[in-house]
Order: sequence, then structure tokens, then C-alpha cells
Amino acid sequence: MPELPEVETIARQLRARGVEGRQILSVRVEWPRTVEPLSVAVFCKELRGTTIDRISREGKWMMFSLSSGKTVMIHLRMAGSFSMESGPHDRLVLQLSGGLSLYYRHTRKFRRWKLVDDPQVILAKLGPDALTRRFTQNYFCEAMRERHRMIKPLILDQSIVAGLGNIYADEALWEAKIHPERLSDSLGDAELGNLFKAIKHVLTIGVRNRGTSLGDGKTNYRDVEGESGGHREKVKAYGRGGKPCERCGNPIKKIVVAQRGTHFCPSCQTI
Ligand SMILES: [Zn+2]
Repeated sequence: MPELPEVETIARQLRARGVEGRQILSVRVEWPRTVEPLSVAVFCKELRGTTIDRISREGKWMMFSLSSGKTVMIHLRMAGSFSMESGPHDRLVLQLSGGLSLYYRHTRKFRRWKLVDDPQVILAKLGPDALTRRFTQNYFCEAMRERHRMIKPLILDQSIVAGLGNIYADEALWEAKIHPERLSDSLGDAELGNLFKAIKHVLTIGVRNRGTSLGDGKTNYRDVEGESGGHREKVKAYGRGGKPCERCGNPIKKIVVAQRGTHFCPSCQTI
């Protein structure tokens, strides 16, 4: 389930593996519907011969800026990953200069590679990335106060703040001691300030630990080296239903909020 820390980890590893600055010699699309909005033939032609100048991230999107001026935007959704080795579920392969191959794999068959002239077509719809300076406490408090929605779905809304998914939303709310069903405009300045800091904190720790992996199934997060993240033992709420809260010892509870499985401590996070 790649969220901001997982996508950031993969982007850093691709840079560390020297993918930036390499020319795309050929493109093989194993599952045609991986790419959009172009046909596979046009997509491959557009990429062939260009160089991947820069790999960057915004929210949960990864971007390859090409020497042609165009940008490949990749969304890993639930289970997308990259590897330098071939494997099952490879959907797209880039042969790069210097003998390097980059495999994109996904256990599900989504359209997830978009070639665009201007990344703003997609990025303009996103709120500020949670780990950038553009995401300020003032902006966050205003955005919460001027709405009348449950707090958890609101912080998952990528048009308000980009990067949080289900895991880190639960972790941030636990950290700030806020019940996931609290209404956004019922939260006081101190609570919003704590939640703002908690969002930055859990994402920063997540990046430091190279992301989270939960469960052992095929759909779980793997980084470029095929490793699951180191953050799994460090989660405080997500996936810990029935286990004692690290703060108060009472059991963590699982409920459904806006159709998402949600973990919280009923003692520390009261409504
Ligand atoms: Zn507790």
C-alpha cells in the first residue's frame, strides 16, 4: 500500500541505482492497459531515445522527467513496485543505457503510467505535499476549520493534503490523540496543531524506516531491493486491533470510517 514514505523510498532507491541520466533504449509493455492515454505503440515511440533526466515525487505520484520535455507520471496504487530484476507480474520493462533494466510490476491490472506534456494537469488537483514547506500549519488549520467533515476522510483527501493513505492517517490520529470520527470544525487550535505535527512526524519516520509493509501477501509493499519496509514494527495503531495501546495499555479498536478499516485507541482518542 504505497503512501508518501513508500513512494519516496522507491524514488530515492531508483536515484541511488543510477536510473537518472540514463537513456531509454527500448520499452516493453507486457500489459497494454498499464499505459494511458496513448496507445502502446505511441507510448513506446515517445519514450524511446529519451533520457530520464530526473526522478521526483509529489504526494503519492512518482515522476520521470524526460529529456523530450514530457513527463511520465506513475501511480503505484495498492501494490505497484519496481525492481531491477525480472519477476512475476511485470507489466512494463524499460531497457536503459549502461545495461540496466527497470521492471515495473503490479499484481493487479491497472492503468498507471501516464505520459503528459505538463505534470500540472495532474498535480494542480492535489493539495500541498505533506512533507514540503508548502504544507503549513496555517493552511492545514484553515482547511480543517472551513469544512464540516469527519477528520479521517478529510486528511485522506489528496486535494487537501497529498501523501497520506490509510496507514499513516491512523498513525497520525493516534499520535495526536484525536478520534477518527471527530468533525473537522470541532477541533481546537491545540488539537489541530498537534495533528499537523503528527502528520509530519509519522511521514518523516516512515521515510526514515523505508516505508511500511503489513501482512505477508503478494500485494504488500516491496522496495526496489525487494525488501519490505522497516516501519512495520513501529506502527502504533494501524493493524493492531485488540493489541494494547502503547500509551495506555487499553486495546486498540478497529472500526470502519468512510469505508476504510480504521484503528484507534478508544481511551486516548475520545470522541
Ligand atoms: Zn491508548
